[in-house]
Amino acid sequence: MQFGTKAIHAGVEPDPSTGAVMTPIYQTSTYAQEAPGVHKGYEYARTQNPTRHALELNLAALENGAKAICFSSGMAAMDAVIRLLNPGDEVIATNDLYGGSYRLLTKVYERYGIKSHFIDMSDPAEVDKYINERTKLLWIETPTNPMLNIIDIEAVCKVAQKHGIRTCVDNTFASPYLQTPLDLGADIVVHSATKYLGGHSDVVLGAIVVKDEALAQQLYFLQNAVGAVPGPHDCFLVLRGIKTLHLRVERACKNAKKIAKHLAAHPRVKTVYYPGLKDHPGYMIASRQMRFYGAMVSFVLEKDTQEDAVKVLSATKLFTLAESLGGVESLIGHPATMTHASIPREERLKVGLSDSLIRLSVGVEDLEDLIADLEQALLAV
Ligand SMILES: *Cc1c(COP(=O)(O)O)cnc(C)c1O
Repeated sequence: MQFGTKAIHAGVEPDPSTGAVMTPIYQTSTYAQEAPGVHKGYEYARTQNPTRHALELNLAALENGAKAICFSSGMAAMDAVIRLLNPGDEVIATNDLYGGSYRLLTKVYERYGIKSHFIDMSDPAEVDKYINERTKLLWIETPTNPMLNIIDIEAVCKVAQKHGIRTCVDNTFASPYLQTPLDLGADIVVHSATKYLGGHSDVVLGAIVVKDEALAQQLYFLQNAVGAVPGPHDCFLVLRGIKTLHLRVERACKNAKKIAKHLAAHPRVKTVYYPGLKDHPGYMIASRQMRFYGAMVSFVLEKDTQEDAVKVLSATKLFTLAESLGGVESLIGHPATMTHASIPREERLKVGLSDSLIRLSVGVEDLEDLIADLEQALLAV
């Protein structure tokens, strides 16, 4: 089955009790039993919920996995993956990653004796050098946030497999429409469904997808034991958002590519970071592992100062100044003071994240209007 068909149909059957075509929102905390222990597979809503179950079936199909497990946020999903580790274990993670992921690994899990190394994974051979007998998990984010570097998922997974280590890919920026890491050798995929999967900036939700049944059972255990489950209404919203994932993402990527090209040729712009530009170092890998090049674009102004960046950030009218990404509407953000403020400045500068970097989440509006908005905003400097 092709992607668009799966997005609309996978996991979604007419409701057995009424024939409702769209999965109902099962807003209930418990389920009647005929006799003690005799029930229809549903006992208590932290453990099982039919709306959540439909979403999990759908996500497993989109990522070509065996099972999906949903959580109340992307961070709760990541937390469940890290809980698979024991004190003394080590993680090797992409050095340019979501600020919240960095915070969880350093500020929370270091206290429990789980140490993380943050490295540049653009060269898979570099990864090999950091692996020791305590390394238990590689954490990849690609395209990276906010520098939009591309990591060769297949090559890094090969290194991990050689050492018998698991690889987890945070696939939030790409969405399963653009890349399916499990097909490239990854063991675990994590999503902030808050972004492209939900797609309308109206819900916070997270998910894990795996191809191994035994691993899925460990994660279901954690989902129920820890209890960071999403509510049925949130599951419904994500399920509904996914039905147009392929349409939204394709349109947003096409808009983003044209905007990246436009900015690259602009006299007031110094550098554009977008993997779909031929001179981007990750262009060839992105062409191989992604369907399109994504809808995130970062850039630095000709006069590389925070002062000028703030002027542009304050001048756009269609691009809303806000954190987050992946919605139908275009957003503009300042990683140094917004999404990545939890990463120390010296760490940010090491990966090239300057105080003047501007990040765009390109939406599905009409391209002419988006370009006109950026044009008028650039006049502010
Ligand atoms: C937003 C985001 C997260 C965190 O997800 P929440 O749903 O906000 O908890 C993790 N990784 C990436 C790449 C993100 O963009």
